[in-house]
Amino acid sequence: MNGPFYLFITGGVVSSLGKGIATASLGFLLKRRGLRVIPLKFDPYLNVDPGTMNPFQHGEVFVTEDGAETDLDLGHYERFLGTNLTQTSNVTAGQIYASLIQKERRGEFLGQTVQVVPHLTEEIIHRIHLLEQQADVVLVEVGGTVGDIESLPFLEAIRQLSLKAPGRTFFLHVTLVPYVSTAGELKTKPTQHSVQKLREIGIQPHAILCRSDRPLSQEARRKIALFSNLPEEAVFLEPDVESIYEVPLMLHEQGVDRYILETWNLPVDSPDLSDWERFVQRVLHPQHTVRIAVCGKYVHLKDAYKSVYEALIHAGAELNTRVEVQWVDTEALESMAEEEVEALFEGVHGVLVPGGFGRRGVEGKIRAIRYAREQRVPYLGLCLGMQLAVIEFARHVAGLEGAHSTEFDRHTPHPVIDLLPGQDLFEKGYGGTLRLGASPIRLKTGTQAYALYGHNVVLERHRHRYEFTPRYREMLERAGLVVSGEEPIQRLPEIVELPGEVHPFFLATQFHAEFKSRPLTPHPVFLGFLRAALERSGVSVAAEEPTG
Ligand code: GLN
Repeated sequence: MNGPFYLFITGGVVSSLGKGIATASLGFLLKRRGLRVIPLKFDPYLNVDPGTMNPFQHGEVFVTEDGAETDLDLGHYERFLGTNLTQTSNVTAGQIYASLIQKERRGEFLGQTVQVVPHLTEEIIHRIHLLEQQADVVLVEVGGTVGDIESLPFLEAIRQLSLKAPGRTFFLHVTLVPYVSTAGELKTKPTQHSVQKLREIGIQPHAILCRSDRPLSQEARRKIALFSNLPEEAVFLEPDVESIYEVPLMLHEQGVDRYILETWNLPVDSPDLSDWERFVQRVLHPQHTVRIAVCGKYVHLKDAYKSVYEALIHAGAELNTRVEVQWVDTEALESMAEEEVEALFEGVHGVLVPGGFGRRGVEGKIRAIRYAREQRVPYLGLCLGMQLAVIEFARHVAGLEGAHSTEFDRHTPHPVIDLLPGQDLFEKGYGGTLRLGASPIRLKTGTQAYALYGHNVVLERHRHRYEFTPRYREMLERAGLVVSGEEPIQRLPEIVELPGEVHPFFLATQFHAEFKSRPLTPHPVFLGFLRAALERSGVSVAAEEPTG
């Protein structure tokens, strides 16, 4: 090889095509062929990172090991590739402009007019080059849709880069081929136009990946190929599937990975995908079912809790179990009568409160936690779900009336969750002021957490500002709350749980366990939670594992 290969993925026609899943799936397939693959997502918006965006705008903020707040597609990349990524794998237009303007102020362009071409495009190309040392293939997904004004510099940059790497690039264009029921036909025109748009920019795709809810007819394939200047075998289909984890297998079946390798003149062998196939089989055809209530305020937007949902799928597959998620709107929960709450949680085998910010729906979440604790329903709390479990316990078990987090009530008599002294909140502005990224946690022997992990020290990822207030720790421990994991330097509580005699499974983590779950290596905390849920549903878990 005389330099890295570049697989560029662009999107056309509409957004939300599942380009991220396609990118992650191809990364997975190339990795299984023995290539070192590093993905990079370009996001054309001007925010420096998605950390300051509302989940309705953006879905989940995925946090990497090194503490970058990134696009949720990085979650897909990590899960499909099974590797930890860093900040360098998610670059926004905001970051590119910010670093260019800093350079200009430092005088690095003295005398010159700083322009989109060549300066901005060079900065973009530089971000791709940064990843090359460790990769055989750099997988570059350009966010947005071809034709958007803001993605133009990125497309121009990859066009320029491709000229310098003849024979080492591959442009894959992902489009939508809609079915128009009144005509009874698949329509290829939007795809044709989108490819024309791409070619106007100077990019001739090597292949088209069509999203469609049905198989492509011979006629549709022929038209797309003809108008795209491509042979028919370069037109592939990404069909709608029940599970996103089927996508790599579907692409492989059609030979997309083989086609890319042949274009690059790389050897083509048969990768072993049997472990993944087994995993997909367990996702699609499990023996058992549990119902988990996920209680949050963004339940109308499933992408807001993407990693939580995927972590449930992974642990479920390991336990041969389908996880039916019942999304519970915690704002609605606040005003419900007791019988309504009972009816809502009837038939639920586990309650999960994920992370969150802001006051809205908080009392509803506390109500859900109280229900789970009192009714002995398995409970898993993540980040805010841990802080609220501490508040609920303080109020209703330790008798600290009005206990709260100062995030929601600055004048609470019992700030059991608070900023640490010296943690000046908005001194630096909002962006990047949280505790972010992976740090070690020491587990206490003899606890549920210790039994689940089987290690003394684990590394988990954070994204929060507030902490379990150390001076309340002893009082709450005396009342029966177990602190089973702590941050080793200041001894900040990281995991709380209730002892097995009191509750079948009640455990909550200050970190986001969901970010480290992978299809083939589910997260221990999610496994523990689902095992308990499965028990509650009447299945004896001991006989179930491992499924192989
Ligand atoms: N809002 C809480 C904090 O800032 C929890 C954050 C979260 O759940 N990610 O500490």
